[in-house]
Amino acid sequence: MKTCPICHKETISKVQDIVNDIEGYNFVLKGERCTSCGEEFIDEEEGQRMIHIAKKFGIWGKPLRLHRKLSKSARGTVLRIPTDIEKNLHLKGNEDVFISKVGSNKILVEVEMD
Ligand SMILES: [Zn+2]
Repeated sequence: MKTCPICHKETISKVQDIVNDIEGYNFVLKGERCTSCGEEFIDEEEGQRMIHIAKKFGIWGKPLRLHRKLSKSARGTVLRIPTDIEKNLHLKGNEDVFISKVGSNKILVEVEMD
């Protein structure tokens, strides 16, 4: 067995269920875990794979930015919130929001969380 660099006990074992959360996306990775202190070590290759996927999703190192078209309804202009963002923010769809104009082409939508 390998020695844990954190607690220095020989209690490192191979696992396949390390969960890494990036922007609300859960990545399940292979690696090693110390059964003594709980420290997890992701395989180098697995870490690279996760970064690759996260980059593909556009969630690596930058905020979610998705393209949407506005639509017209009888009561005004409607913006549909992308499902990814909905999930990410755990929106139920009945929240109060604050809408501010920031700059000449930017609208900031803040969700009031209770
Ligand atoms: Zn340890």
